[in-house]
Amino acid sequence: MSKRDYYDVLGVSKGASKDEIKKAYRKLSKKYHPDINKEPDADEKFKEVKEAYEVLSDDQKKAHYDQFGHTDPNQGFGGGDFGGGFGGFEDIFNSFFGGGGGGRRRDPNAPRQGADLQFSMTLAFNEAVFGKETDIEIPREETCDTCDGSGAKPGTKVDTCSHCNGTGELNIQQNTPFGRIVNRRVCSYCSGTGKEIKEKCRTCSGSGKVKTRHKIHVKIPAGVDDGQQLRVPGKGEPGINGGPPGDLYIVFHVRSHEFFERDGDDIYCEMPITFVQSALGDEIEVPTVHGKVKLKVPAGTQTGTRFRLKGKGVPNVRGYGTGDQHIIVKVVTPTKLSEKQKQLLREYAEISGQSPQGEHEQGFFSKVKRAFKGE
Ligand SMILES: [Zn+2]
Ligand SMILES: [Zn+2]
Repeated sequence: MSKRDYYDVLGVSKGASKDEIKKAYRKLSKKYHPDINKEPDADEKFKEVKEAYEVLSDDQKKAHYDQFGHTDPNQGFGGGDFGGGFGGFEDIFNSFFGGGGGGRRRDPNAPRQGADLQFSMTLAFNEAVFGKETDIEIPREETCDTCDGSGAKPGTKVDTCSHCNGTGELNIQQNTPFGRIVNRRVCSYCSGTGKEIKEKCRTCSGSGKVKTRHKIHVKIPAGVDDGQQLRVPGKGEPGINGGPPGDLYIVFHVRSHEFFERDGDDIYCEMPITFVQSALGDEIEVPTVHGKVKLKVPAGTQTGTRFRLKGKGVPNVRGYGTGDQHIIVKVVTPTKLSEKQKQLLREYAEISGQSPQGEHEQGFFSKVKRAFKGE
């Protein structure tokens, strides 16, 4: 990878102040912004400028860069947000766990990608619907600064592991019903490093790694659902022998809501109405996650009738529109009636005869009558 020096990209000197860096970035990002600049390489240049600024404007990343240059595996990933840069949600959501080593031959000194990390996050119903930005602290292992990851006390010698001769693997012979087979296992004496440490680093007890808590800023897209996971590239554990870092996977748990129920991008709810509203019709107010909506309930609405409010559901996590809200009407029979109300209902029953009016009900009631007669 022949990456340009970040200071060169922004056209500032190594000793440039924060302000100078910011100014240079503003100027260049305007110049190369793909909406403004239509030259074919503008987009590339814009990204380059953005990346340079993301590193040089962050004290920690800048210090790393000044010390290690482009070799530091952690940089180049922005702040762990999904605004742009890494190819949109499609690939984030499609890259679930999996892959992994399989039966590959390992060389203990070869660069290896750091382990993936998993972080579970509980979201309130509405947070999942609308997304949110938040800082999370993830415990992870970092390369030990004291020994630079070697695990040996600084200044002491590191020998080749005598058990595996530095291969990091041992051949284990096993007798099975099918004959004798040889299995390769990670060398338990050196944990696969191929090295034998005489004097362990005190900071990391010889592991070459220290446990830290790492704070990252994440942007959770609107519409995430329970059980979905989001990949944050490069925010897993650091690589081994200079390999790239692993990825962080945030797994979402979405709390249920007392009124709304979610199914994919659609929201369902039950809306109580009085039997007077169901008979005479009414305009009712229905809560949605987007605010109150008026709904016309026509006269003669039966319990269980469904209404749909288009576009009042959950925004699709990949940006394909918004779901609907479905309302299932429940007619509530009153349990406490005043004498006056009872009187009016008796009058109503008298005027109507014994059974309710209307063709639909007539049919329904006659079915019940036939069932009673055993037909
Ligand atoms: Zn150490
Ligand atoms: Zn070994």
